[in-house]
Amino acid sequence: MAKKKMTTAFGVPVGNDLNTMTSGSRGPSLLQDVHLLEKLAHFDRERIPERVVHAKGAGAYGYFEVTADVSKYTKAAFLSEVGKRTDVFARFSTVGGEKGSADAERDPRGFAVKFYTEEGNYDMTGNNTPVFFIRDPLKFPDFIHTQKRNPATNLKDPTMAWDFWSLTPESMHQVTILFSDRGTPATYRNMNGYSSHTYKWYNAKGEYFWVQYHFKTDQGIKNLTGPEAAAMCGKDPDHATRDLYDAIERGEHPSWTLEMQILSPEQAKDFGWDIFDITKVWPHKEVPPITVGKLVLNRNPENYFAEVEQAAFNPSNLVPGIGVSPDKMLQGRLFSYHDTHLHRLGPNYHLIPVNQPKHAMEQNYQRDGNMRVDANGGGGPNYWPNSFHGPAPDAAYGEPPIEEHGPGDRYEFDHPNDDFVQPGNLYRHVMSEQDRTNLVSNIVGNMESVPKPIQLRQCALFFLADEDYGARVAEGLGLDMAEVKRLAAMSQEDRVAATPVK
Ligand code: NDP
Repeated sequence: MAKKKMTTAFGVPVGNDLNTMTSGSRGPSLLQDVHLLEKLAHFDRERIPERVVHAKGAGAYGYFEVTADVSKYTKAAFLSEVGKRTDVFARFSTVGGEKGSADAERDPRGFAVKFYTEEGNYDMTGNNTPVFFIRDPLKFPDFIHTQKRNPATNLKDPTMAWDFWSLTPESMHQVTILFSDRGTPATYRNMNGYSSHTYKWYNAKGEYFWVQYHFKTDQGIKNLTGPEAAAMCGKDPDHATRDLYDAIERGEHPSWTLEMQILSPEQAKDFGWDIFDITKVWPHKEVPPITVGKLVLNRNPENYFAEVEQAAFNPSNLVPGIGVSPDKMLQGRLFSYHDTHLHRLGPNYHLIPVNQPKHAMEQNYQRDGNMRVDANGGGGPNYWPNSFHGPAPDAAYGEPPIEEHGPGDRYEFDHPNDDFVQPGNLYRHVMSEQDRTNLVSNIVGNMESVPKPIQLRQCALFFLADEDYGARVAEGLGLDMAEVKRLAAMSQEDRVAATPVK
């Protein structure tokens, strides 16, 4: 086979790629060595900003296949008939760590799926947990700062995290899941994916439903214990990335069964939980999930940077038949994801092959910008309305309206159900005794260096979720149980006032 010819970025053959051009054999170097200049200048620009969250991840291609008729709930074309397959790209990630951080860190895991449908790309941007730490996006940058590095020491800092959580009781449910062994999944293949948010599905008749997605792993749930995860961070910081890649190379294609929880607007009215509160689940007994399809990953990317690092998921990538809900966290993400990609990848990130619609065409009047690498609309009209046969909106693609209204204001959460019932149920009824032991040990290990007033404040919250839970953490930390009980009996405001940090 003929050797492939090396060229510059502009296709000019390169004669020598080992020796810089110099004046005499010892130098100095010559500015006219344009190949060296081009090579160094490109290298200097190899890094793009890493994602502020979900920086470390692994991805793969595959398909989604519909296994049940859901046309009475949604008119989404890719869900329209049993047996229908749609190409997908999925990315799994940790959240708080940098791009080089260890895969086994305790953290939620991102679970994002891009469906390349004939009606455009649909992105499901979920996590491996069905709930989240906060329910208002105004708190998101603060929360994420607590998961990053201390501004003075540049160290990860449990005090920042527990201070924030103890001041934010709505976090109790997600904190309990995070510090259970589900906070350290054995691999990306052995975890579930949840939309966490409530979304809207609507059918061809204009009826709508509130839904939550559950991608249940067919490989079975497997987790690392705290000590196993700590050992794995040192032994193989890339273990989950490696596992996903190697499994697919071996032909062991991981799959997930998609189950949906679906509520009609009438059912939602009488529901005991606020269905737009991402810190809560819909109990399975009250809303039994129905099986809808299968997600299979069967092809590795060829180039990590091109296809995984540049992959851009966005909860506002929706298709007809799927809409959003008033969940405030979701509403915030509708802005933030697109905005992040504009910053990270530029205004034309949708033209990067992994992000491009594969079975639909982009047709609109958005033009120009950095890296506009397609035909940019050619010679067609670049404004709407126009009389020159440019693409036109179609009113058939409207969504059924929802009944939510009221004066514009900053509302405090006012649902009567408290933030402790569901984490308490998880601790009491779902976890095994071994799960509870590991949960307490994981929490105690992480909280040991945290100032005592914050330990006490947080233990009072554990106690409110479940008395045994609070007592066991307090015992592990050597706290006075009477003091924990006294704090648990107070309002959150009084509790915070009673636990000042010097
Ligand atoms: P169910 O008993 O019907 O469901 C329990 C769910 O909990 C199962 O889906 C199971 O997932 C999951 N689970 C098991 N162990 C753990 C763990 N250590 N950490 C987190 N999740 C776990 O109960 P309910 O629907 O009434 O919910 C009770 C609690 O279960 C909730 O408060 C929530 O914390 C948790 N849960 C509920 C989910 C829901 O959508 N209802 C989803 C996930 C968790 P799997 O089948 O994969 O083992």
